[in-house]
Amino acid sequence: MIDLHCHSNCSDGTDSPKEIASLAEQAGLKAVALTDHDTIAGLGDFTAQQKYVSTQLLTGIELSCEFSGQEIHILGLLINHNDPTFQERVNGLGLRRQRRNAKIIQKLANIGIDICPESFFEEKRLGVLTRAHIAQKIIQDGYAFSKAEVFHKYLGIDGIAYVPFETLSPEIAFSWIRESGGVSIIAHPARYGQLAKGQFIWDRAMADLKDMGAQGIEAYYSDHSDTETAYFLRLCDTLDMIPSGGSDYHGRVKQGCHLGTGWGKLNVPDEVLDRLRFCSFQSPSGF
Ligand SMILES: [Zn+2]
Repeated sequence: MIDLHCHSNCSDGTDSPKEIASLAEQAGLKAVALTDHDTIAGLGDFTAQQKYVSTQLLTGIELSCEFSGQEIHILGLLINHNDPTFQERVNGLGLRRQRRNAKIIQKLANIGIDICPESFFEEKRLGVLTRAHIAQKIIQDGYAFSKAEVFHKYLGIDGIAYVPFETLSPEIAFSWIRESGGVSIIAHPARYGQLAKGQFIWDRAMADLKDMGAQGIEAYYSDHSDTETAYFLRLCDTLDMIPSGGSDYHGRVKQGCHLGTGWGKLNVPDEVLDRLRFCSFQSPSGF
């Protein structure tokens, strides 16, 4: 069993990269990829653990992009995180996020909500600050009772402190991943549309994304039903794309979702990795 999608506390998970490596070993996984949101900050610590564990520790990232007016996530697996060009590009994304956060915090301050982010974020030792973290702080300070309320009143699209994300196009994400020797996978596809009479309405979209440079689809995923998994595996066949899979493990913030098995039933076959590796060797700087 392998797991090609999980998050550490370098983005919005709760375990350190080092803890993820040992958890994967305990779970008996053959391989695990760390795929933090828009950052590769954890990959150095993570891969340094390779000498202590038999589970193969693989590099990855999850990039947020905009496609057809909605946010989609693209996994870059087997990327070379030591490639200076890739590092520079990803650091630029961090700055984009920081600019957005600064605007959100300013808007909140304008309506009298001073969330003093620095101390909170230092205490959490965050690599990437997301809206989920800001929401947590707003609740902690007593300005709202629930995450839903925070997003409704403040951070969501109709909220007082809403700031749109400066978007990254899928084409750019695909080329960055490919140029750093990685393989591009469309993450959790079922989240983007509905299954209607066995026909996923994003069929055409997946074909378009493939034309732009996507190489695979995350067919095996914690939240997928058996029907959805079977459907996406068939779609991979039809479009000649690679099926990938992972739990999207986040540690304590997703209680009950485990590395490797997800909510209990996930079992990503080892062969998935062979195809990914083959594809990564075809990349310009495949390693
Ligand atoms: Zn994820």
